Amino acid sequence: MSNNTNEGLFQIRDLLSEAATFLTDAGIESPRLEAQILLAHQLQTDRTALLVREDEPVSPEEAEAFRALVRSRGAGEPLQYLTGGQEFMGRTFRCRPGVLVPRDDTGVLVEAVLEKFGDHSGWRDVADIGTGTGIIGITLKLERPALNIWCTDVSARALELARDNARQLGADVLVVESDLLNGFVQMGDRLDVVVSNPPYIRRSDMDGLPADVRREPALALDGGADGLVYVRRLAAGARDVLRPGGMLAVEIGWDQGEEVAEIFAQTGYNGIEVRSDWGGRDRVVLGMWGSSNDGEKNQGIE
Ligand code: GLN
Repeated sequence: MSNNTNEGLFQIRDLLSEAATFLTDAGIESPRLEAQILLAHQLQTDRTALLVREDEPVSPEEAEAFRALVRSRGAGEPLQYLTGGQEFMGRTFRCRPGVLVPRDDTGVLVEAVLEKFGDHSGWRDVADIGTGTGIIGITLKLERPALNIWCTDVSARALELARDNARQLGADVLVVESDLLNGFVQMGDRLDVVVSNPPYIRRSDMDGLPADVRREPALALDGGADGLVYVRRLAAGARDVLRPGGMLAVEIGWDQGEEVAEIFAQTGYNGIEVRSDWGGRDRVVLGMWGSSNDGEKNQGIE
């Protein structure tokens, strides 16, 4: 160690390079960045502040706590479970083990829905099915405060976390337990939009997922034999809860666009669109429910 006045203490610089080496060996893709994120988290600061303090010492206790985080990360724990947060569309959502970590790609789904509100100013009632951390429903509510949003999940951990995120971000959404659309059936057709990032990974692909993704709940990832079990159930079920002229919008895997568009068509949706993510791969499918005339009629109202 360097012979400074803080003998026995570790400098930020040394801790970072030690951690980066460890994470590199563990096969982490961005080892330096992740080391910085974890140390900033441990020291309750941000990365920029950390990097201008590289010469400063860290107490042995803090250094040991940081090393424990680095070891967990090296063993495959998702970074967001260690830091407790992930940014999504400019807001920080809390993350915890047992609930899927938000992915940037889901922004394509949220933006597609927001864009469609432009043509359907009468839409009010929206259900985010399988909300997880709550990113979809909470973001929609914060972007469009007039909406009534239900965030649903079948997982108690997800419901608790979505409630925490809604409270923390000041989003007045209803977080309720529901297995897919079951909770809405008695209400009749009263939803304008059903939006979901369902589990869509093929069962046979589950074992091949990266170590950190395998630490995330299979409940949120495993889409059954062909990955489309939940998409099919949503497409069939949304017909009973959507108002005529309403929309079903789902996130999908990069190779599922054609198949999901076909499922939507066979189930009776029209105006079907497949949208790509920023990497140019299929990511979202939208379908309108009811005759296209109904859809047009609704556009002019209010
Ligand atoms: N996009 C996620 C992944 O590839 C999957 C999310 C999901 O199944 N809904 O890890």
